[in-house]
Amino acid sequence: MQLFNFNFNRGSVWLVGAGPGDPGLLTLLAYESIKKADVIFYDALLNEQILSLAKPNAQLIYVGKRGNKKSINQLEINKLLINEAKKNKRVLRLKGGDPFIFGRGGEEALSLKLSNIPFKIVPGTTAGIAGLAYAGIPATHRDFNTSITFISAYGAGGEKPETIDWTSFCKTSQLIVIYMGLERINWVCSELIKRGRDKHENIAIISNATKQNQKILISTLVNCSKNFDKNAIDSPALLVIGKNVLLSPILNWYSTNKRNISFLKQNKKINEQYNIV
Ligand code: SAH
Repeated sequence: MQLFNFNFNRGSVWLVGAGPGDPGLLTLLAYESIKKADVIFYDALLNEQILSLAKPNAQLIYVGKRGNKKSINQLEINKLLINEAKKNKRVLRLKGGDPFIFGRGGEEALSLKLSNIPFKIVPGTTAGIAGLAYAGIPATHRDFNTSITFISAYGAGGEKPETIDWTSFCKTSQLIVIYMGLERINWVCSELIKRGRDKHENIAIISNATKQNQKILISTLVNCSKNFDKNAIDSPALLVIGKNVLLSPILNWYSTNKRNISFLKQNKKINEQYNIV
């Protein structure tokens, strides 16, 4: 029985989301396309174990950022996708999470469209959904929220996203999930307080969500920078703000049981006070 349509044609490009880490979260389309691709362009967020599914002669090309090294820019990536498709290959652009959530998938799709290259978009589970589930934080819970807001802490040019109307979403967003926020966590917390969030509101930092080294740290907006050394928290990480966070210590089913507390600032009292779930 054929459950779904799978036609990865030569000369086409698939933009595929691989989820945030756990290979078990790959969709069937993602799984089959990785096995079938002739060339795979992947970036830094991808759990590289997933690449072991590729066929032995597939070309695996890293196009992400690593450390401070000069990285390939978006226009160059677009061009590579087009060129490889024109060589009549099955081209896979494999991304962490979902390609259309802060993943530049829209830019790549537009450039393929403009070059008349056939393409397909395969959604993946975004970190802001899967990461919450693996941290025991229901994205919605009827007692707490009927909405959820995804925000990027980086604007298109890397700047702080001053264009966001912080005041109005602080007022209306019941659960806020911030991508790319770890580097700017102090700024994010003070901005949220300045724009009207309760300074004692809970914030969870979910680092390496759904991976074997997942870590969840919980604090409050006002204490966060006091408690945690952001440089000791591994990237990638999500920031989650809202009442739903309170459920994490209860519902956290994916505990990795590694009590590494190097991210705590040297303060005995804090160590005693904060549960690391
Ligand atoms: N397209 C991706 C997001 C890319 S933006 C998606 O849909 O998930 C990159 C940001 O995503 C990171 O800075 C981090 O905030 C978040 N992120 C991605 N994978 C993550 C993971 N495994 N754990 C925690 N955060 C993650």
